[in-house]
Formats: sequence, structure tokens, C-alpha cells
Amino acid sequence: MALIVHKYGGTSMGSTERIKNVAKRVAKWHDAGHQMVVVPSAMSGETNRLLGLAKEIMPQPDPRELDMLASTGEQVSVALLAMALHALGKEAVSYAGWQVPIRTDSSFTKARIQSIDDQRVRRDLEAGRVVIITGFQGVDGDGHISTLGRGGSDTSAVAVAAALKAKECLIYTDVDGVYTTDPRVVSEARRLKTVTFEEMLEMASLGSKVLQIRSVEFAGNYRMPTRVLSSLTDPLMSLEEEAQSGTLISFEEDTNMEQATITGIAFNRDEAKITVIGVPDRPGIAYQILGPVADANIEVDMIIQNQSMEGKTDFTFTVPRGEYQKAMEVLDKSVREHIGAARIMGDAKVSKVSVVGVGMRSHVGIASQMFRTLAEENVNIQMISTSEIKISVLIDEKYMELAVRALHKAFGLDAGQGA
Ligand code: ADP
Ligand code: ASP
Ligand code: MG
Repeated sequence: MALIVHKYGGTSMGSTERIKNVAKRVAKWHDAGHQMVVVPSAMSGETNRLLGLAKEIMPQPDPRELDMLASTGEQVSVALLAMALHALGKEAVSYAGWQVPIRTDSSFTKARIQSIDDQRVRRDLEAGRVVIITGFQGVDGDGHISTLGRGGSDTSAVAVAAALKAKECLIYTDVDGVYTTDPRVVSEARRLKTVTFEEMLEMASLGSKVLQIRSVEFAGNYRMPTRVLSSLTDPLMSLEEEAQSGTLISFEEDTNMEQATITGIAFNRDEAKITVIGVPDRPGIAYQILGPVADANIEVDMIIQNQSMEGKTDFTFTVPRGEYQKAMEVLDKSVREHIGAARIMGDAKVSKVSVVGVGMRSHVGIASQMFRTLAEENVNIQMISTSEIKISVLIDEKYMELAVRALHKAFGLDAGQGA
């Protein structure tokens, strides 16, 4: 007998029929003698619908109120799942984040989990109940409801699993594992049986939304065995087969010498680029430009600064597209106040495409192969950033899918290419 955490995403919870299937699957695990904690997302489309309503009221609603609103989606799904389990004769109880409680900081709409109290949950588990906890939400020190950012239920699940020292966290979703790239963009994408924690961290941070990055961080920090698998299979399939399916995030250094140099292609459509032109090339200028952006809690990603010409230089960086307007406003003010003659230009129609793989460490020429492939497709590269295990390029969003397909093929990842 073990303590197991299941997480079900929006599609998996998308209708009462699907919720009944989730209940059957959870009941099967419980019948096998496991203590079960389940962390569901809101029903698919619900979080978008709620945020859409807010935007109908005003363009930039108060983040605290947004969280009050968005967190309701998960409250609906946990209660329905508890009922579906009751209907199968199982004892089950649902909790909102604040009832556990899952404590977070007060960065509304992108809060971070600080601690999780396990006592209430443990009491229920010991009494034989299935415990269902809302994904995506928590409560701050003043009792305000917070949410963890889009896709945050993954993080709730892995954090709950870590707090309870679960044996495994199973993330059920609408694909049957982690693929070499998004299978909805490249139909030749291949499922990975295992992916190293490091690679998963890069893939998630570079835009593969199959797992929210913070869930991967939690998995790594607590060495929580985490598996991504499908919720759309027969809920009554054999438990042994199910437990081996999907993709396992491994913490072992990959010893497979046959391993492909590149593990996958990640992309992020929602980038925006900002350039400050004609800034004086003097100490402190990067801080003057980026300091106010950081103070506004906007994450800056790629950064380049050109050589200076006659003491002036250009400075370019990227931010998430959703924060583009805010970043432009912040910069406009600080550039006028501190930097004088500079001009600001922006482009919110850019995307980032990255090749990822721990195998890159021992191979040279990956960058040039990437650049050649993009050149052959006539895709212009606007910015480049590299680390030991990834190379990212920023390109016009209209070429994103083309670039992903071309790179997937060029690096031998297409199914049938036998990488
Ligand atoms: P859930 O609602 O279950 O959390 P998400 O939509 O957040 O599901 O994440 C699953 C989706 O992630 C898949 O439907 C797929 O389109 C997308 N995805 C992006 N990159 C990958 C990848 N490398 N492997 C698998 N799925 C990916
Ligand atoms: N319901 C939230 C969202 O749509 C959290 C999640 O699905 O993980 O972003
Ligand atoms: Mg998700």
C-alpha cells in the first residue's frame, strides 16, 4: 500500500462523463489498497471563460479579484469529483486550497507555494477517504485566495505529493506522455519513455506547457517520482499496465550512449520583444532599463546589447506577451526620466523556438545545424540565447510552426527516423 497523488487536467475533467471516468480510475487505485489524493483542474475552458468575464468588466482587473474569480473553476470540479466517487460507493472529501491549507505568498495570479499543512489530509486518508484538493489555488498570509499561474494545477499536485511524501505523482492529461515536441503541432512527434529532470525543466521553461515549470522544480527539489500519462484510456485498464505507461521524469544521469543529441523542440508563441534605441553606453544602463521592469514583477527572458557606436547602443529584451503593455508603460516612464534621448520600439508578434538535450554537452555543431536549417527555410533569427543543454532563437511568430517542424526533422526526431 502506498500514498499516491493523481492530477487531472481540464480536458480530463471536461464533462460529467469524463469526471465519472476519473472517479472510476481513482476508485480502481483505491481498491488496490492505495491511499489516494486527487488534484483536479477546472473543467476545460472554464478558467478562460472566467478570465474573459473579468476582461469584459475592465481591461486590467485587480489581481486579487482575478484570483478570487479564477479559483472558483477548481472548486466546482473537486465537488463534482467527490460526488462521482460517492456514487461509486467510495468515501471522498473535497477541499479548497485554504481549507488544507496550501499557503502561498501574495503575488496574486502567480503566487508561489510556501508550505502545505498535511494534518487534515492525513486524518482523512487514515480514515480511508479519498481526498480531493483543488489545483491551482492557495491562500496567502492574510487569508486572501491566490492562484499559481496558468497551468498551476500541475504544481499543486507535485507540491502536495512532496508534502505528503507520496510514493508517486501521476499527472493525467489529454496526451499519453511527454513528446519530442507538441504532438498537436508536429504529428510525427514521438513519445519519450523517460525524460531527465534537467531536460523537462528546460522544456517546461521554454514553453512546453505539458507541465508547468514550477511543478518540475518541485519534482526536482523533492525528488518526487512524477509521471505524465493519459486520462483518456479505459479507466479500468490493468493497474500494472497503467503504472508503467506515459513518460517518467528520471533523476538519473542518462547513461544511454545511444541517446539522441537533441531530446526535443520546445516553443513559446507568447513572447514580445522590446528594444531601447540610442541609449548612452555607460555603467548602470542595463540596471536603469531592467530595474523598473523587474520591480513591476515582469519576467525578462532573452537580453542583448549591441556594440556601441559613438557612445550609443541599442538594448533589446523579451517579456511574456501578456505583460508587454505593462512593460512598455513602465519603460516609457523610466526612459523619459533617466535615459534621455532613447526611443523604445516593440514587437508583440514574436515566438521562441528552442532545441533541448543533455546530449548537446558532448556534441559540437548543434547551433550551426540549427541555424542552417532555419536559413534553408528562410526564417530570420532575431535573437539567440544558449546554455549547455539548449539553444533558443526568437523569430517572427508566423514562422514558428514551420521552424518547429523543420528542426524536428533535421535533428532526426520524426517518428520513423529512428533517432
Ligand atoms: P492539462 O489540462 O491536462 O493540464 P495541458 O493543455 O496543460 O493539459 O497540457 C497538455 C498539452 O500540452 C497537450 O495537449 C499538448 O498539446 C501540449 N504539449 C506541448 N508540448 C508538449 C510535449 N512536448 N509533449 C506532450 N504534450 C505537449
Ligand atoms: N485551471 C487552471 C488553468 O487553466 C490551472 C490548470 O489547469 O492547471 O490554467
Ligand atoms: Mg496543464
